Amino acid sequence: MPKRVQSPSSINTYKQCARKYFYQYILKLPTKPSIHLIRGSIVHEILEHFFSLDTAAFDEQEYAFGLRSYVTAQLLKLWKQNQKRLSSLGLTAQELEHYLIDSQDQLHRFVERFCKRIADKMSQGLSFAEAFKHLTPRVEEEIKNTEFSVRGFIDAIHESDDKIVIMDYKTSKKDELTEAYRLQLAIYALLYYEKHHKLPDKVGIDFLKFGEQTLEVDEAMVEYAKREIRFIHEHTESAEINDYERTITPLCKWNGGQCDFYDVCKPHG
Ligand code: SF4
Repeated sequence: MPKRVQSPSSINTYKQCARKYFYQYILKLPTKPSIHLIRGSIVHEILEHFFSLDTAAFDEQEYAFGLRSYVTAQLLKLWKQNQKRLSSLGLTAQELEHYLIDSQDQLHRFVERFCKRIADKMSQGLSFAEAFKHLTPRVEEEIKNTEFSVRGFIDAIHESDDKIVIMDYKTSKKDELTEAYRLQLAIYALLYYEKHHKLPDKVGIDFLKFGEQTLEVDEAMVEYAKREIRFIHEHTESAEINDYERTITPLCKWNGGQCDFYDVCKPHG
């Protein structure tokens, strides 16, 4: 049987709860939309297109205002386009407004940090357009590796100033570099290495609300990713439910919701 193609999400789902992995990736039961998923995809879409902006349209002095206005306009446009999905979540108008304002705040903080880098480059003699181009990463790159049967979508690959830095954007409300995030980044480092035969210098999370956290990449990180990928392949060959144990924790049902498969799993009887 061919190996399943894994991803950082599928691997982290298995590590959280093998039964959840079974429902999501083997039975392929549908998952429920959530405000976190919808607003996360809206913000990611804006950041994906942010770096394709026509810089000629921006004033050399007022670019920060222009970039802030751009992300705000894009957010309002995409929020409106997703109105039907957002309204189906059962949240109050106040709750939805809170997420809209929070998303705008996260995007503005991203722009603010980016503008500091632009200003730094301009102080070295670059024009706004040159600085923007210099700081533009490759975005939303899919890397698939057949040897390890794993794939990932990398949000941003910065290859400038002789450094390779891989970044993932998160709209989380905490800036904790959890074990799940560390594994995701280790897998990205491995995928990049396998494709380009070169280790990235750093991998990191851009917690849009708080700022960036990066890790130096070394051989140990890549070996960690390989071990975890092998482990998942070995443990997901079966299609029998009983081979996927339940991990019953408060995450099955928490204040803000419940596991997508709570009703079928019935962890509490
Ligand atoms: S409800 Fe809990 S035990 Fe059941 S699949 Fe979800 S996380 Fe796992």
